[in-house]
Amino acid sequence: SIVVTGATGHLGRLVIDGLLAAGVPAERIAAVVRDKEKAAGLAARGVELRIADYSAPETLTGAFAAGDRVLLISGSEVGQRVAQHQAVIDAAKGAGVALLAYTGVLGGPGADFDLAAEHKVTEQAILDSGLPYTFLRNGWYHENYTENLAPVLEHGAVTASAGEGRVASASRADYAAAAVAVLTGEGHENQAYELSGDVAWSFAEYAAELSKQTGRTITYNSVTPEQNREILLGAGLPAPVADIFVGVDTAIEQGLLAATGGDLSRLTGRPTTPLADAIKAALA
Ligand code: NDP
Repeated sequence: SIVVTGATGHLGRLVIDGLLAAGVPAERIAAVVRDKEKAAGLAARGVELRIADYSAPETLTGAFAAGDRVLLISGSEVGQRVAQHQAVIDAAKGAGVALLAYTGVLGGPGADFDLAAEHKVTEQAILDSGLPYTFLRNGWYHENYTENLAPVLEHGAVTASAGEGRVASASRADYAAAAVAVLTGEGHENQAYELSGDVAWSFAEYAAELSKQTGRTITYNSVTPEQNREILLGAGLPAPVADIFVGVDTAIEQGLLAATGGDLSRLTGRPTTPLADAIKAALA
């Protein structure tokens, strides 16, 4: 089977949609989910459910079978992910899966910011397992920005501490299509793909596009990391989360999320979704 973990998440749902659209029979697709009710729609489409929690290794025993092609979608519980991912890797190794694909972060071992740390350790654990692997090193989602437009529209400003830094983001659907290409294609064993948008944009350009599409003046409010942290804390974010966001902006300022090497469009066979399209969808 082709097995997708995190299948009830945003990316996982798109991967399952893509597998079905590519003609993979539903009975050859398995979804590893922790919440059976949340996965009712998947079951209704004939996808096999395997219930397991990354945090409970004993539940992962039945999640994989010999010969499965597995997509491990990285967890969302920052700080716990090394142990969680290790448990998945151990279960996949124990079962003898044919491929373990993993959604890491653009830059791989070179991604020098806090949010990347758990991905780097996970990639090394996969290498240490000896399993055939594919590293899907995902850059940023457009949706990280466009799904959070309310405060931007309210204040007429995009606030960030990324300076003139650029982001080569792409839509979640683009990254999902790359995962589908790897899971259904051949020759991706032991490859690392640096997945990112074809175009890297600056926050000033992002604000200009928002202005254009809304017909209002939206500026780029370029602040220091310290100011950004205060703003995020003021908006009610817990300090560890604010620190992660500020760290991401610093990484962007340093150019760590700007690479446009083209692996994503090569894998999917089409250009990546323009940021303007994601803005348009969010405003609609
Ligand atoms: P989501 O938060 O929508 O999905 C995360 C998925 O992981 C969910 O299905 C969730 O299950 C599952 N999950 C989390 N913890 C566990 C656990 N303990 N056991 C089993 N499953 C678990 O994120 P996306 O789909 O948008 O993104 C996928 C991943 O990519 C994220 O988890 C994160 O690691 C990373 N990411 C990347 C970004 C980028 O810009 N490249 C931005 C944001 C995240 P459930 O549905 O039950 O909650």
